[in-house]
Amino acid sequence: MKAGIVGLPNVGKSTLFNCLSNAKAQSANFPFCTIEPNIGVVNVPDPRIAKLEELVKPERVVMATVDIVDIAGLVKGASKGEGLGNQFLGNIRECNAIIHVLRCFDNDNIVHVDGNVNPIRDKETIDIELQLKDLETVDKRLEKVKRAAKTGNKEAQTEETLLNRVREALLQAKSARTVQPNNNDEEELMQDFQLITSKPVLYVCNVDEGSAATGNAYVEQVRELVKDENAEVIVLAVGTEADITELETYEERKMFLEDLGLEEPGASVLIRAAYKLLQQQTYFTAGVKEVRAWTVNIGATAPQAAGVIHTDFEKGFIRAEVIAYDDYVQYGSEAKVKEAGKFRVEGKEYIVKDGDVMHFRFNV
Ligand code: GDP
Repeated sequence: MKAGIVGLPNVGKSTLFNCLSNAKAQSANFPFCTIEPNIGVVNVPDPRIAKLEELVKPERVVMATVDIVDIAGLVKGASKGEGLGNQFLGNIRECNAIIHVLRCFDNDNIVHVDGNVNPIRDKETIDIELQLKDLETVDKRLEKVKRAAKTGNKEAQTEETLLNRVREALLQAKSARTVQPNNNDEEELMQDFQLITSKPVLYVCNVDEGSAATGNAYVEQVRELVKDENAEVIVLAVGTEADITELETYEERKMFLEDLGLEEPGASVLIRAAYKLLQQQTYFTAGVKEVRAWTVNIGATAPQAAGVIHTDFEKGFIRAEVIAYDDYVQYGSEAKVKEAGKFRVEGKEYIVKDGDVMHFRFNV
C-alpha cells in the first residue's frame, strides 16, 4: 500500500518527501526537478511501541512502515501529456491514496508556476487534470461495455449505468469519490475502474514557519473549500520541518518544535494520517528478542494477520493468543495479564483490533 504526494511544481512536495523519508532526493527551486518517482519507506511514529519496549525490554524494536511516493511534475495540461504529465498520472494510478500538497506560504523568491499563491486555484488545477484523466478511462470503458449492454447483458447494463453516473460527476468537475456506490456490485466495479479521483485523499497545507501551529488565511480557505469532502486537512511548515530533521540531537529538535508551538512534528501527524487513509492498522508482537509493530488492513482476520509475518503462519493457523494493548500496559506483563483473566484465545474468525498484542499458534 502506497500513498502518493501530488501537487503543482514548487509547492514543497520533494521537501516534504525528504522530510518524511530523510532520503536526499533533489529539491530545487524550479519545476520538474524530481523526475523519477521516489519511493520512501517511512516509519509510522507510534508511542505505544516505546511503552511496550519499556515493559518488555527487548533486544530490538521494529516499527510499522508506510510507503510514500513523491510524484512530481503534475501541471496544467498533464492529462493531455503536457510536461511529463502522462507518466506522472500513471504513477498516481499505482498509489492507493493521495496526499495533496497545497502551497499556503508567501515567498517571492520561490516561483509559483501560475504567478501567485492561491491554493484554491491550485487545487482545482490538479483536480481537473486528474478528473480529465479519469474521464478518458471512463469513456474507454463505456465504449467497451455499450455493445454488451445493448444485447441485454445485465452486468454490462449495471456497469454502463454506473459509468454514466461517474462521467456526469467528472463533467461537473467533481471527483469520482463523490459518487456513492448503491450496492456491493457497484462498489466492486468502482474498485475495478481504478480511477485516480476515487482514491482517498488528504490535504497538506504547506505554511510558513510562523503559521505551523495556528494555520493562516490560506489554510482557512482550503478548509472551507474541502469541508464537504470528508478529507483531513493537515497544516505543516514543510520547509521548517525539513530543517528540523537536519538537527543532530533529540533535545535540539524538541526545542525547535516547542518554539514553533508544536508538541510533535507535523510530519508525524501526517504519516499517521496517511497510514489511516490507507486503511491500515497495527498489531504488536512482544517478545524479549523483538517488539514489533505489524501492519494489517482494517478488518483483517487473525489468520490474515499471522500471514503478514509468514505465509506458513496463515496456512497452518490454529489460534491466536491476544492481549489488548491497554490491558498489557495496565497489568505490565503477560503473566499478570493472565492472572487478571484478560488473556484471550481467539480463532480463525477473530477480527484483529488496532493495538492487539498477538502470539500465533500454528502447524507446520
Ligand atoms: P516541488 O516541486 O513541489 O517538489 O517543490 P520543492 O520541494 O522542490 O520546493 C520548491 C522550493 O520551495 C524549494 O526551493 C524549497 O526549498 C522551497 N520550499 C519548500 N517548502 C517550503 C516552505 O514551507 N517554505 C518556504 N519558504 N520554502 C519552501
